[in-house]
Amino acid sequence: MQLKAESSAAPQAAVTAPEPSVDGTLVTVKVYTRHTRTSPKRDRSDWARCNCVKWLYIYRDGKDKSISAKTRSWERAQQKAREIRDSLDPIKQLQRRLEAKTDGRSSDVEVGVAVEQFIAEVDRLNRAEATCAKYKLTLGRPFEMVRCPGGPGLVSV
Ligand SMILES: [Zn+2]
Repeated sequence: MQLKAESSAAPQAAVTAPEPSVDGTLVTVKVYTRHTRTSPKRDRSDWARCNCVKWLYIYRDGKDKSISAKTRSWERAQQKAREIRDSLDPIKQLQRRLEAKTDGRSSDVEVGVAVEQFIAEVDRLNRAEATCAKYKLTLGRPFEMVRCPGGPGLVSV
């Protein structure tokens, strides 16, 4: 992680980076700047007012990662950070999961139906086999050539 500069940087009034404990969640999304080598503030990753590309530091469930905010605007990067924070928010996540569940219900049903159809088909084949064998047994020779789904061997003629 390229956050060494940030952790050692003195707190700056204009930029308040949220700490994990502040909002009571385990999710932190904060904006930082990846300066170009020529940036006068290249040692300050929390410096908002230069034209360097802004990045988002995301900490969640003990893991962290950084992604580019794809903007040089600190404000826009913060907007993105907010969106990501919302998307990782446990309550909003739950809401989305419920929505996804509703969406996913149809596919669950499809799988269930498919399994049922499969079982029904197997059952049908078994019955066909049994029926066929029974016919053979009952009717004898004339049906000797009837091919049962289970193949030969079930019936001795
Ligand atoms: Zn810069």
